Amino acid sequence: MGKKKEPDLSKMSQLLLSGATMLGESCPDCAVPLFKKNENIFCPNCERKAVYIKNKDEIKKIEQTISLGDATNQLRDVLIGKITLLTNQLASEDTPNEITNTLEIIEKILNIIQKIS
Ligand SMILES: [Zn+2]
Repeated sequence: MGKKKEPDLSKMSQLLLSGATMLGESCPDCAVPLFKKNENIFCPNCERKAVYIKNKDEIKKIEQTISLGDATNQLRDVLIGKITLLTNQLASEDTPNEITNTLEIIEKILNIIQKIS
C-alpha cells in the first residue's frame, strides 16, 4: 500500500517542464494528479506506474450483463422444467378448476420465459 505523503510540488513542476502532462484523474492511493509521459501514466507521489482502466464503468456493466445472462439462462431452464412437470400434471387433471389453475400457472411461466428471452 502506498504511504500517504505530501505531494512533491517541485517534482511535479519538473515533470511538467520535462514534457509530462497532468491528467484529470488522480492516484487512487494518494489522490495526487496522475501524470502522463511517453504514453506512461504514473503517480509522481507514489512513484508508481498507474494501472489505468479507462472504461471502468463500461467494464462493470458488461460484467453485470454477463452474470445476469447466466442467471436468466438458469431461470429459463428451471421454468421449462416446470412447464414439463405442469404439462404432465395437466394430463391427469379432469376438473375444470384444476385445469384452469394449471393453465394459469403455465401461462405465467411462459410470460416470464418470453420476457427473459
Ligand atoms: Zn499516488
